[in-house]
Amino acid sequence: CGIVGYVGSKSALDVVVEGLARLEYRGYDSSGVAILSDGAVVTAKRAGKLGNLRKALEEEPTPEGTVGMGHTRWATHGAPTDHNAHPHLDCTGKVAVIHNGIIENFAALRAELTERGHTLASDTDTEVVAHLLEEELRVTPALAEAMRRVCRRLEGAFTLVAVNADDPDVVVGARRNSPLVVGVGEGENFLASDVAAFIAHTRDAIELGQDQVVELRREGVTVTDFDGKPAEVREYHVDWDVTA
Ligand code: GLU
Repeated sequence: CGIVGYVGSKSALDVVVEGLARLEYRGYDSSGVAILSDGAVVTAKRAGKLGNLRKALEEEPTPEGTVGMGHTRWATHGAPTDHNAHPHLDCTGKVAVIHNGIIENFAALRAELTERGHTLASDTDTEVVAHLLEEELRVTPALAEAMRRVCRRLEGAFTLVAVNADDPDVVVGARRNSPLVVGVGEGENFLASDVAAFIAHTRDAIELGQDQVVELRREGVTVTDFDGKPAEVREYHVDWDVTA
């Protein structure tokens, strides 16, 4: 139900958890984070309130990293358990995905993936995206291009954000029928389902249009459509007060 992504020089965990707290008003049943650290993706996720995730992070501290993402879930497919909470990983454990919305054709995609030898670990519609990215990353090393190729196969409503341990300076987002906004900072950039998540850091925003993919790096953002054509984007300044 809420999504936050970050690339910069601050603690990604701090930025992401604080961002999720600002999205709590939207309601959710579980939460989770993924942080890129030392060539690996480290995840933590818990059913229930953000406090449960915070407690888990205290008990088992996550290594420091400056690239990461966080999610609050409102379960539609699969019970609200620790296990079904996002992020979801591919078979290699290197690709992590968070998702708001519903992938309508997930059952067919899941059957195909299982046939091709993937083991899916959760009951969510979301997890197919991690495994599809795994396959596309064998075709192209670029996460944004892999995401575009996957999005062309998805039906439904989705905001997706993904990270790849092999591409440690990049966060990729995509959207169809579900909101995603970029926060533009200096040497740092943000992604969120709502500007409230990053307003404490920057008020310069880019609203993503329908069927667009964004590649977020420290030095800038690149937005394309699902076919890879550069996209027209709307940049704006958030000059209203956000209360959350
Ligand atoms: N359909 C996904 C799930 O059930 C995402 C739900 C959401 O928007 O949080 O895990």
